[in-house]
Amino acid sequence: MDRIVIVGGGISGLSLAYLLRKANPSLDIAVLEAGERLGGKIWTDRADGFLCEGGVNGFLNNKPRTLELAADLSLKPIKSNDAARKRFIFSCGKLHPLPESPPAFFRSNLLSVWGRLRIMYEMFAPRGTKADESLAEFGRRRLGREAFEKLIDPMASGIYAGDPEALSLKSCFPRINQLETEYGSLIRALIRLQIKAKKEGRTGPGPGPGGVLTSFFDGMETFILALRDSLGERVMPRSKVTSLVKNGGHYTVHLQDGSSMESDCVVMASPAHATAGILRDFDHSLSRTLSEIPYPPVSVVCVGYKKEKIGRSLDGFGFLVPFREGRRILGTLWDSSIFPNRAPEGYVLLRSMLGGARASQAAMQDENRLIGTVTAELGDIMGIRVQPDFARVYVHEKAIPQYTIGHQGRLETLERLLARYKGLSLAGNSYRGISVNDCIENSYRLAGELMAGTKTKGA
Ligand SMILES: Cc1cc2nc3c(=O)[nH]c(=O)nc-3n(C[C@H](O)[C@H](O)[C@H](O)COP(=O)(O)OP(=O)(O)OC[C@H]3O[C@@H](n4cnc5c(N)ncnc54)[C@H](O)[C@@H]3O)c2cc1C
Repeated sequence: MDRIVIVGGGISGLSLAYLLRKANPSLDIAVLEAGERLGGKIWTDRADGFLCEGGVNGFLNNKPRTLELAADLSLKPIKSNDAARKRFIFSCGKLHPLPESPPAFFRSNLLSVWGRLRIMYEMFAPRGTKADESLAEFGRRRLGREAFEKLIDPMASGIYAGDPEALSLKSCFPRINQLETEYGSLIRALIRLQIKAKKEGRTGPGPGPGGVLTSFFDGMETFILALRDSLGERVMPRSKVTSLVKNGGHYTVHLQDGSSMESDCVVMASPAHATAGILRDFDHSLSRTLSEIPYPPVSVVCVGYKKEKIGRSLDGFGFLVPFREGRRILGTLWDSSIFPNRAPEGYVLLRSMLGGARASQAAMQDENRLIGTVTAELGDIMGIRVQPDFARVYVHEKAIPQYTIGHQGRLETLERLLARYKGLSLAGNSYRGISVNDCIENSYRLAGELMAGTKTKGA
């Protein structure tokens, strides 16, 4: 491998380039990014003293690779405020704190008494019989309809902006799937893992994903800028790739401006829908399989208020809204309570999400309507009856890849098709994990494989 071309300057493409360069400083690397701005879904914006995350808000600090990469770049991540740990669910006209422990859970009236008792039955619920079960089927089967609708459904919105009837449990939450397979019950798995951890003097896992939300004082863009500075002119913004052609053992990467680049190693770190377009004439089956990964739109609306106008405390992380509530937002994060430096002194910043797989049209309204929808919803849900002093909108027409039923099969098809093309790989969050942590972990794995010369196929 003499030269490597990486298509896409999001965290996946940039972290991969950084790790390859670190492993071999003389390697000729080019990162081709379509946009003016690097970072893809990492999009930190500043206006009127507010710091708005137009996309990614942070990462959980329970995956060592992300922290390792940050340390390598001499970056100092900051943890979210302890006071902002409390999360809320909007249900039946009220914000309910999400119970954090089994006793709190039984005291909480988020779920009816029957709903709480039904959760206890989880220990005896039968195992699933489907090879690829939806998140909704799994949730109802194990925890009951009410817990599914009030707890699992908003989680699917918060992470995937997805439809739990369509999302695949084993592709979206492989660890939960594994716990059911190994222990037969999630509650039993938690108890056994807690006992084991106690014996080993560790803290055991809780019911949530674990880890603390982490970012940087100047926002997630800090990661992107540090990677860009380290890579220098290897990173080429305004370089939209349009097609790929195979010439014997080489690939020719064609760009929109009419130029091209030769390489024996190409990594497509662009989202699956964009990669599908680039590979349309290269391999029709590959392109078609990539285009089967749905990407619904999501809009992020940031609104800022003078603190004294809010009339309520913002001591928490924010809230998620179950689909059954019929509201027009997926949820709102109280950003200025979570991290410092998100709002100027005396102001607060709230960040709401709209759209997703079940309400695509809600994300695609014009800016004023998006702001109007959010302020009306914040009025009903949080009782904020005043107009915001500040507002910004960020639209992602194709936001988050959906690992729907059949995702695993699609990955297998992609691996089989890619096996024909030595030196061509897929990277990015369309395949094996959607989070920043997953992207970085996958970059470490792929960089290792490429340097060892073992990478011949696969997503
Ligand atoms: C609103 C929103 C909020 C999110 N919040 C979080 C969060 O808080 N925590 C978290 O862990 N994850 C979050 N995510 C998921 C997040 O998208 C991923 O974690 C991660 O940023 C994906 O990085 P990536 O590099 O794989 O893809 P992207 O960020 O999509 O980057 C792909 C890049 O490829 C470029 N590209 C596309 N086509 C071409 C082409 N033809 N030629 C050249 N370049 C091209 C794009 O311009 C883009 O820069 C969020 C996603 C969204 C949409």
